Amino acid sequence: MRIRDLLMPREMIPAVQDINLERLKERGIKLIILDIDNTLVAPNEAKPHESVVDWLNQLQNEGFLVCIMTNNTAERAQQLEIDKGIHIVHLAHKPLKKNFREILKKFGVEASEACMVGDQLITDVLGANRMGIFSILVKRISDAHSFHRRKLQDFEDTLIKGRNN
Ligand SMILES: [Mg+2]
Repeated sequence: MRIRDLLMPREMIPAVQDINLERLKERGIKLIILDIDNTLVAPNEAKPHESVVDWLNQLQNEGFLVCIMTNNTAERAQQLEIDKGIHIVHLAHKPLKKNFREILKKFGVEASEACMVGDQLITDVLGANRMGIFSILVKRISDAHSFHRRKLQDFEDTLIKGRNN
């Protein structure tokens, strides 16, 4: 697979709540892996919006396995104060495969039975695609970021806009 294909999400949606859960079930998806920053919550906010918390509950009520996977720290993950039952992997080093493999093993599912939901191509999407995990890109919640991160976001936006070229 070409690097550019590896960076392309299988699906793009505005926000996590827009994920079509029925379609995921039809695809045989059992495990939903979620990024934190700019996917569930803005990077400069501690806790996710109430609607996101409700959505997380809905996922579990519908029978999905849920895992949170962040390249950020344990302290950041704890700030979320979400359901303690949700397994959280911090310092995950996405797009490296190691922690994706660990998560699949822990939940006892195949890569084809998992999806990764995140806002970044070079971590969330690339990591999932390398593993054969279904990748879903959400629009980042906030653009408020450092100059360095902003440049990376511009680059990712350019890739997405040019995806059919
Ligand atoms: Mg993120």
